[in-house]
Amino acid sequence: MKVTVVKRATPAAIAVLRQATALFPKRNKASDGLLPSAAHVKASPNSDHNTGLAVDLTHDPKNGIDCDVIFDELKKDERVAYLIFKGKIWSRDRKAEGERKYSGSNPHNKHLHISIRSSHSNDTSNWFGFIDKQPNVLSQTKAKLSKKPKKKDIPSPKEA
Ligand SMILES: [Zn+2]
Repeated sequence: MKVTVVKRATPAAIAVLRQATALFPKRNKASDGLLPSAAHVKASPNSDHNTGLAVDLTHDPKNGIDCDVIFDELKKDERVAYLIFKGKIWSRDRKAEGERKYSGSNPHNKHLHISIRSSHSNDTSNWFGFIDKQPNVLSQTKAKLSKKPKKKDIPSPKEA
């Protein structure tokens, strides 16, 4: 079977990785991916990576990219066709069933796979708008902004 692979990933897919890096420049990118390798094409001839409508985002919770959280949040993003992470798949077509067990050969423990609907391939709006709502990210940001504690922060005898 001849498989056609596009030369460029779609703008929406590229935006996922660029925006993640803009938010968290130190994030691990080891399992990032847009277009498939030759081996990947052979193994998965029907993959959305072949059409540029898929993106793999490396799971790196220590550096801000927590794919457990992102998996849940992206169900609300209308650009998403389906998501695969840690042996689970969620797809818009079957959302009534919720998360299902993913039985593919690669359980996707190191990256979140995002497939994008072709109708939304050029939509590069913010993929991570939910991130400032995460308490851990919020507190990291606050920690950076706040000054070092001053001596007067030590409770006075009156308060103690
Ligand atoms: Zn993938």
